[in-house]
Amino acid sequence: MNIVLLGAPGAGKGTQAQKLTKDAHLAHISTGDLLRDAVSAGTPLGKEAKSYMDKGQLVPDEVVIGLVKERLQQPDTKQGFILDGFPRNTAQATTLDAELSKLGTAIDAALLVDVAPEVIVERLSSRRVCGSCGYTGSTKDGDNCPQCNAPLEQRDDDKPETVKARLDVYAEQTAPLVEYYRGQDKLVSVDGDRSPQEVYEDVKRQLNL
Ligand code: AMP
Repeated sequence: MNIVLLGAPGAGKGTQAQKLTKDAHLAHISTGDLLRDAVSAGTPLGKEAKSYMDKGQLVPDEVVIGLVKERLQQPDTKQGFILDGFPRNTAQATTLDAELSKLGTAIDAALLVDVAPEVIVERLSSRRVCGSCGYTGSTKDGDNCPQCNAPLEQRDDDKPETVKARLDVYAEQTAPLVEYYRGQDKLVSVDGDRSPQEVYEDVKRQLNL
């Protein structure tokens, strides 16, 4: 099964993707993670991407599409994959459909993790991540990672001045994809304003897992 995850930044896509990846043996492709890796490695692509990410803007399509095409060539995607954070606009969605068709496959379901904007602002400002093991939590976890004890950090783009820009970009460019996938009869929606485990039970039910 090939799945696209839709939802505002902070809706909990990454958390649901991690659970699905484990249980359904799917490859997890997060363009945000791929870009953050390139930024940390200091590659030319990472340097270009960082200037957009810091402002809460989308990285240019050709950069992100290039990363995704390369990732889709890797053998672990044959067993099915979850795309998390891609596509983010209609141009990316149509390119993805064309690319998958060349590879003899297609998207089976677009899963919308639906959360109201006011809940999102609160979640993003309290989100904390572990730079060491990748754990995502919140200020409620305290200063250190509950999994590996490394210091928890705030993502640069979760700072208040960037959050508003990211939500505007989501509303303008990404939200229309809900209709794109509804039109293809692939849209599945879950209420994301519940505990991660409750959301996940619903996800499994809706995807017949
Ligand atoms: P995320 O972790 O998915 O919230 O992504 C963090 C940032 O990476 C976004 O705010 C964008 O600047 C960039 N990014 C991630 N995925 C994409 C994409 N599909 N298209 C353009 N920019 C992206």
